[in-house]
Amino acid sequence: MGPVRDVTLAVVGSGPAGLTAALYAARAELRPLVIAGIPPGGQLIITTDVENFPGFPEGVQGPELVDLLRRQAGRFGAEFLDDHVVRVDLARRPFTLETGTHGTVRAQAVIVATGANARWLGLPSEQRLVGHGISACATCDGFFFKGQPLAVVGGGDTAMEEALFLTNFASHVTIVHRRDRLRASPVMQERAKRHPKISFEWDSEVIEVVGDGKVEGVRLRDHRTGVVRELAVGGLFVAIGHDPATAVFRGALELDPQGYVRVHDGTRTSVDGVFAAGDVQDRRYRQAVTAAGAGCMAAIDAERWLAEQPAPAGPARVPR
Ligand code: NDP
Repeated sequence: MGPVRDVTLAVVGSGPAGLTAALYAARAELRPLVIAGIPPGGQLIITTDVENFPGFPEGVQGPELVDLLRRQAGRFGAEFLDDHVVRVDLARRPFTLETGTHGTVRAQAVIVATGANARWLGLPSEQRLVGHGISACATCDGFFFKGQPLAVVGGGDTAMEEALFLTNFASHVTIVHRRDRLRASPVMQERAKRHPKISFEWDSEVIEVVGDGKVEGVRLRDHRTGVVRELAVGGLFVAIGHDPATAVFRGALELDPQGYVRVHDGTRTSVDGVFAAGDVQDRRYRQAVTAAGAGCMAAIDAERWLAEQPAPAGPARVPR
């Protein structure tokens, strides 16, 4: 079990939701301990330009934004463990969070801000080639595909964004979408459709990734005709959405059928004293700024809830 550390508030996750929760909680003198994940920072660390986070008229790089938020929370006393939570017991208080290598954290209240992870197609050939030409992050890996034709799977904003970004490197980008209409917002659709380096394969699915040791092509099946054909590409970017990172909370918190944490009355979860913020409970907005806003809400909810608790959980805050 390793060392045991008692805190008033533990925040799990260190994207904009977790870090904003930590900032507000620190300023409420709750001395939050952030179990930040590995690598810490959430999805923003695999993002380059963030142009829609208020307060940055020239935009900001994702990792820089994370660093700024972390330093801001740290300035008011938030502490950080760069580790994962591997097991939880939320059935009784103090709640218990077991980490990978830093022992156990016992907390009077918990804010869950673990975010969401990229979804994969689930093909055996895909698993074989992840990291060898298959990626879910154009901003991380696009550079490696200079001058090559590439494919992007998906019809949402992420797919459009990935495809547009990849035009900086690729000779051509083919967006493969399973329907004949995109889900992406009109502005992103237009940008992609107008781009001279981007073309679309409609009503098509990737049924196999071709290549031995590295990606050489994708086999596509057209739903309308059943015709299978091969598209020669040097890389495949999968941009088909995300899954909330809630595996460790299964059975401990009420989740919806897609695995998102169910919240009510602001950020309250099914367990009294456990709150959730950001992409882990938000399938709709999923923006850095909405996650940050939800993190603020969770910290306020947690602070008020702690203050209402009879001793020792509430007023008798645990010193660290
Ligand atoms: P979405 O869920 O919006 O889109 C996922 C896409 O992948 C859909 O087109 C879906 O097809 C397709 N898809 C899902 N599963 C499969 C599969 N197994 N095989 C093939 N295709 C599949 O996810 P995004 O990540 O694109 O976006 C998530 C949210 O983040 C959205 O709200 C989006 O607006 C937002 N966002 C905004 C950005 C911006 O404004 N700049 C940038 C990125 C994201 P189908 O359409 O048929 O369901």
